[in-house]
Amino acid sequence: MTRTSEHGHVLLIEDDAPIRRFVRLALTDANYSVSEADSVRRGQIDAATRRPDLIIVDLGLPDGDGKQIITQVRRWSAVPILVLSARDQEQEKVAALDAGADDYLTKPFGIDELLARLRALQRRLQPPQAEQGWRFGDIEVDARTHEVRRRGELVHLTPIEFRLLLVLLRAQGAVLTYRQLLTQVWGPGYAERTHHLRVHMANLRRKLEDDPAQPRHLLTELQVGYRLVTGESTMTRT
Ligand code: CA
Repeated sequence: MTRTSEHGHVLLIEDDAPIRRFVRLALTDANYSVSEADSVRRGQIDAATRRPDLIIVDLGLPDGDGKQIITQVRRWSAVPILVLSARDQEQEKVAALDAGADDYLTKPFGIDELLARLRALQRRLQPPQAEQGWRFGDIEVDARTHEVRRRGELVHLTPIEFRLLLVLLRAQGAVLTYRQLLTQVWGPGYAERTHHLRVHMANLRRKLEDDPAQPRHLLTELQVGYRLVTGESTMTRT
């Protein structure tokens, strides 16, 4: 069997055959190799035996919840996991992310969006370089001096705001749940203090976004959390 898989092997766990076919064709076209599973049981076996480079998992499977697979895989592997979910599954998405999934896509989704998410997840696996800074849109962030500039002008961020920005930048475009952001920025005792996060996010948007009511970078994922979208081509580590 000859398979081109220069971008790695993807285990796709989804019981909906048309979606599985759509994703498989898109991934094979993009030079991933793909194996498919349609249940929790099959998915757990394949995750352990095929050692995929990436896992895409649907949450609603005939014999259980995709979250069971995530929980199990996270006991022994840091392989990137992307969740596929329906539009009305906010609580399930949060639970899947808190169980160790890296990001999610809401159905229906486009091929470009899927591939961009997978590339972002793979970038996160690259060995960490000494962090110097980021540039996106008209914003520059210096990781060493903690200086943030917008159109060249220094923007004053509080230490909490800077830490929040840094955690979002390091996620490379992936969503972070309220709980993940609160524990990473404030500490483990703060996981429930969602109002803290709202206030500081509003401040960050006011300081960094052209129109804080219609943010282009600091995006809300309703009932789930936030993600920082930089526009892939413009995000550069300086
Ligand atoms: Ca399903």
